[in-house]
Amino acid sequence: MRIIDLRSDTVTRPGKEMLEAMFSAPVGDDVFQEDPTVNELEQYVAELFGMEAAIYASSGTQTNQIAINVHVQPGDEVITHVDSHVYKYEGGGIAKNSGASVRLLDGNRGRLRLDDIQKWINNPEDVHLPLTRLVSLEDTANRGGGAIYDFEEIKKISSFCREHSLPLHLDGARLMNAMVENGVDLKVYASQFDSISLCLSKGLGAPVGSVLIGKKDFIKKARRVRKVFGGGMRQAGIIAAGGLYALKNNVERLKVDHEHAKALEGALNECAWVKEVIPVETNIVVAVLKDEENRDRIIAKFTEKGIKTIAFGPGMIRMVTHLDVSVEDIDYTIAVIRSVS
Ligand SMILES: *Cc1c(COP(=O)(O)O)cnc(C)c1O
Repeated sequence: MRIIDLRSDTVTRPGKEMLEAMFSAPVGDDVFQEDPTVNELEQYVAELFGMEAAIYASSGTQTNQIAINVHVQPGDEVITHVDSHVYKYEGGGIAKNSGASVRLLDGNRGRLRLDDIQKWINNPEDVHLPLTRLVSLEDTANRGGGAIYDFEEIKKISSFCREHSLPLHLDGARLMNAMVENGVDLKVYASQFDSISLCLSKGLGAPVGSVLIGKKDFIKKARRVRKVFGGGMRQAGIIAAGGLYALKNNVERLKVDHEHAKALEGALNECAWVKEVIPVETNIVVAVLKDEENRDRIIAKFTEKGIKTIAFGPGMIRMVTHLDVSVEDIDYTIAVIRSVS
């Protein structure tokens, strides 16, 4: 039976050409910064974003947690969205790794608004209050159904943060999905942030790894923290080569995933059992069911037909399109969506 895995865009496998690039990559010991492929990847990413430096790490959780650890001291406060990955899906890492507290804000589909951030900057003269030391955004917002930030809002948040000497971090796990749609220049976009985490193993299709981007002195500190977190890898060029290949070959094609996601949205919107689909902006499709109780039964029906989907909270099912989902897979999935009741 054909299996179509729509649980996440992390499930992609390296294709022949990517594997060849990995197989033939020159390698060295990256803890000594002597892996030519890791060095090339870090330099490539830094230049792509017009930032000073970058560091390769094993996962997006690791790059986010390293960034937070460099930006804050124990007891400081991080402002982020209540549904953000850095808070919700990193095992309590902000508290555990950095001893920091969080101020969780609401916001439309995972996106913070300047007005809300402004209200929650603690007065540093008041000894009762933790020092607000970081704002962390997510673009695209996973729990927001792959929502893209309005760049005008980012610019406002960024200039406010700079006025208050408040670092601004971006969890850009799916940043490239946003960038192929929002029409903003990568360097102009990146210049708004003090640090950016970019996943290579989501829609870009590399098997392992994320990159953290920032100023030279920030990345120097990040290198120390990566080691402390047990993230110093040796001949990591083997996997970094997959990331480099992904960035050079798989960015523009993300638009195909977005078209596929739109097609799924259309089919789901016609289903009697679907209350609404969170409007699709990128590669994430979230269907909200009329009857919460139906969720696991419907997921099981898809599984019977070889389509893997994932529960996304009460009464919600998520499907994510990616590199290993073909147009034929989408047509088949749409047929199954129509047959499920
Ligand atoms: C996937 C993801 C990450 C990183 O996850 P890892 O599994 O650690 O690579 C970070 N932020 C968001 C929004 C994500 O979707």
